[in-house]
Amino acid sequence: MLAPAGGAARVTGPAPHTAVVGGGIAGLAAAAVLAERGVRVTVYERQEQLGGRLAGWPTRLADGSRVTMSRGFHAFFRQYYNLRALLGRIDPALGMLKGLPDYPLRHSRGDRDSFEKVPRTPPWSALGFVALSPTFTWSGLARMNPRPALHLMDVRVPQVYERLDGTSAEEYLAAVRFPEAARHLAFGVFSRSFFADPRELSAAELALMFHIYFLGSSEGLLFDVPDEPFPAALWDPLELHLRKAGAEVRTGAAVDRVVPRGDGGFTVECAGSADACDAVVLALDTDGLRSLAARSPGLGDEPWHERIAALRTAPPFLVSRLWLDRPVDRHRAGFLGTSGYGPLDNVSVLERWEGEAARWASRTGGSVVELHAYAVAPGSDRAAVQREALEQLHRVYPETRQARAVDARHEWRADCPLFPVGGFASRPGIRTPRPRLVLAGDLVRVDLPVALMERAATTGFLAANALLEQWGVAGQTVRTVPQGGRSAALRTAARLALR
Ligand SMILES: Cc1cc2nc3c(=O)[nH]c(=O)nc-3n(C[C@H](O)[C@H](O)[C@H](O)COP(=O)(O)OP(=O)(O)OC[C@H]3O[C@@H](n4cnc5c(N)ncnc54)[C@H](O)[C@@H]3O)c2cc1C
Repeated sequence: MLAPAGGAARVTGPAPHTAVVGGGIAGLAAAAVLAERGVRVTVYERQEQLGGRLAGWPTRLADGSRVTMSRGFHAFFRQYYNLRALLGRIDPALGMLKGLPDYPLRHSRGDRDSFEKVPRTPPWSALGFVALSPTFTWSGLARMNPRPALHLMDVRVPQVYERLDGTSAEEYLAAVRFPEAARHLAFGVFSRSFFADPRELSAAELALMFHIYFLGSSEGLLFDVPDEPFPAALWDPLELHLRKAGAEVRTGAAVDRVVPRGDGGFTVECAGSADACDAVVLALDTDGLRSLAARSPGLGDEPWHERIAALRTAPPFLVSRLWLDRPVDRHRAGFLGTSGYGPLDNVSVLERWEGEAARWASRTGGSVVELHAYAVAPGSDRAAVQREALEQLHRVYPETRQARAVDARHEWRADCPLFPVGGFASRPGIRTPRPRLVLAGDLVRVDLPVALMERAATTGFLAANALLEQWGVAGQTVRTVPQGGRSAALRTAARLALR
């Protein structure tokens, strides 16, 4: 737990004005903390909707139904404490989240894995997974090289990057000699959840994931999902909360430039307007941050601009949603991670958990199925990848071969950050060369064991805290899974062996 610096509960005197640029999780987390403490906040979001990579928008299907399309399935893991604290603003009981019973994985060769029965307490979580998983055979275990595997027993940030950031996830898994099936199934699915090819992803990010889900927490790999589309369940109520706290929320508002002023404040230029403010939070995706920084020379010093310019995005990915005219088998899980099925990385059946999809399915007798394909080679024939993903669905759930798609939506994007081998040292942090300019987002360096949505929420809170500290106001308490493995015996073994 990271308690913020002490201070007043709210700003006293004239409220400082803060521009939060970016209305994804990171921007909304920063905006909530600031507005609740009396800071005058304006959120600028380029898209018409809030939510960033979890945005959703209305669409009409060929059968006339009005539904919500979105950027696709997201797992809200139980150890996402800061994301949950953000959502707790709209409902402290988190009634908008619904648990899925399992995180099943399936390889085309027939291997299957599940985390449902794996114990949650470290080290039994990792040992239990190995014992219960059919991908870890005795002969495979005997061939493993335990020394590099010891890095996983005591993961701390930033030390894990010092040890492993120079190695790719693929090289690391090969060095450990994890049984081939386990490598492809469990770890392959993990590294692809960073949208990256394991040959390009830093092994430190993979080790961090292992820590967050296995040896560093007792929540395991179980997760929740919103019970209605993202706008209805999350962003509309959160926007209302922000407005009630006095924030102005501007959507369809792409910021062109941020110009520093001599008094330590900034001018935010957006669609012909120039708004003066005392502080700025840049909570952008990789391309958004890179291009805004390039259009705002002098915003930071030269090394800072160089670090931002060097940020890279992971390859393109596809989210296909199909409204099928008949149901999938009633035993199909709400979410299935797949490996060895061409470009297909996972399949979700939305009516298992999302109210809107369940209503459409029960009205029409159909199913709403979503397919994700990550790390698609840039320049691929997109229509061919969409067709291939659908053909793979037919292999995974053969009953869908007979189904006709009433309608389909295909979303292609490339806006997830890449965490390349050796990239950690130059990753920009929350603080910048200007005290009242801070960064937030899942691309931002933070020396805590968090990733993905939880990194976005955590850096959002910490960016707000960095500003509040300057105004003498206490910020938001931040919680994460502990640094270091939770088993003292494994920690000691790792330290002794890796000395
Ligand atoms: C298909 C998919 C599945 C995923 N699944 C999971 C999952 O299961 N679990 C998990 O933890 N994470 C998952 N993620 C990752 C997760 O979505 C991100 O980590 C998180 O949403 C990042 O939030 P953010 O606020 O940092 O960035 P973003 O959500 O990208 O927000 C940045 C915002 O800045 C805005 N912007 C950019 N430029 C400007 C500008 N000039 N002016 C104003 N606004 C601008 C953008 O429009 C965007 O809304 C998934 C991502 C995808 C794409």
